Amino acid sequence: MVTVNDNYAKLPGSYLFAEIAKRTSEYISANPDKKIIKLGIGDVTQPLPPAVISAMHKAVDEMAVKESFMGYGPYEGYSFLREAIVRGDYAPYGAPISPDEIFVSDGAKSDCGNIGDIFSTDNIVAVCDPVYPVYVDSNAMSGRAGEWDGARWTDIVYMPCNEKNGFMPELPVRKPDLIYLCFPNNPTGTVATKSQLKIWVDYANRNGAVILFDAAYRQFISEPDIPRSIYEVEGATECAIEFCSFSKTAGFTGTRCGYTTIPKALVRGGVSLHDMWLRRQSTKFNGTSYVVQRGAEAVYTEQGMKEVNETINYYMKNAALIRNGLKDAGLTVYGGVNSPYIWAKTPDSLGSWDFFNKILHEAAVVTTPGAGFGPEGEGYIRLTGFGDAVATKEAVERIVKIL
Ligand SMILES: *Cc1c(COP(=O)(O)O)cnc(C)c1O
Repeated sequence: MVTVNDNYAKLPGSYLFAEIAKRTSEYISANPDKKIIKLGIGDVTQPLPPAVISAMHKAVDEMAVKESFMGYGPYEGYSFLREAIVRGDYAPYGAPISPDEIFVSDGAKSDCGNIGDIFSTDNIVAVCDPVYPVYVDSNAMSGRAGEWDGARWTDIVYMPCNEKNGFMPELPVRKPDLIYLCFPNNPTGTVATKSQLKIWVDYANRNGAVILFDAAYRQFISEPDIPRSIYEVEGATECAIEFCSFSKTAGFTGTRCGYTTIPKALVRGGVSLHDMWLRRQSTKFNGTSYVVQRGAEAVYTEQGMKEVNETINYYMKNAALIRNGLKDAGLTVYGGVNSPYIWAKTPDSLGSWDFFNKILHEAAVVTTPGAGFGPEGEGYIRLTGFGDAVATKEAVERIVKIL
């Protein structure tokens, strides 16, 4: 008889968003006259840029004609897109990446979750706490996390990110092999400087570790001198894999496109990780659709970049409104400057869920309790700038009133 992967049985239920949805719908049924505003969402709300839409329309028409029809594409993605990525995301920042080091995918979540395929199950994994849950759960599924003790996994190295260390992980005592870093960070909104990243790059190269760098929010960086790619740091091509996405940048959450960069210089145990990933992708992945890759290519045209920046400015105006509103009302807030996320400390040492409830019941606004991202998130809530501008303004006014 078949036996199933026991690691799945160890996973705690996806408690966070289910619990938020449950509490929200209970509130709505008890208060049908109240207009709920959601500031907890991690999804974009603005439509795709017109430049992307017209490129996709054109590509659809090509698919209708025998001469321009496209079947299976290259496993690594079309070179028109990989070249555009280098021209738009790497070359301008001095990151020494070439198109043949890029793998186009259907988004960063699948790549972050699948990358474990090329590493053995006895590697020690380190994550930040709080953290984007995909890194942890995908390692738990492949047996790299140990046992769930009700709050943490016994074999995962958690690197606390809190007010004391400026939400920047410190080099852990127990040496990890795989180190997940995400900057600009979801959920804390923190960014890392080049010298902060250099510490990790040197550490990984010294110890033969690999950094898995999630740069999904790179386009939200507004301050100068904050690196948009880990490859802006010297030595990173020898130790880091980078995950990028068009989801938050260009509104592709429903359209699906991202890319993962594995430099050819990244070798462990005498093996090229680039070649391993190509082998993995060519076996388990048949490419992102041609139409979508043409849409992603259009993000890097002059018009596309202009439109993308307008949408990002729209979200960042929301983020500034939230950040400044809560700050003026006396809360301690982080993020919202180089990231669409605001990480707000609860007042009077309230628990995350207590503050979530207070805002839901007294202001009819939905947020995300920080404790859902890890034990160190207790005492915080996460708000996002991804909502509608008018609704966001109203939500902030309502929250400020109850504080
Ligand atoms: C949204 C998000 C992603 C992007 O996921 P896609 O699969 O590309 O939509 C990746 N990492 C983090 C931390 C995110 O918040």
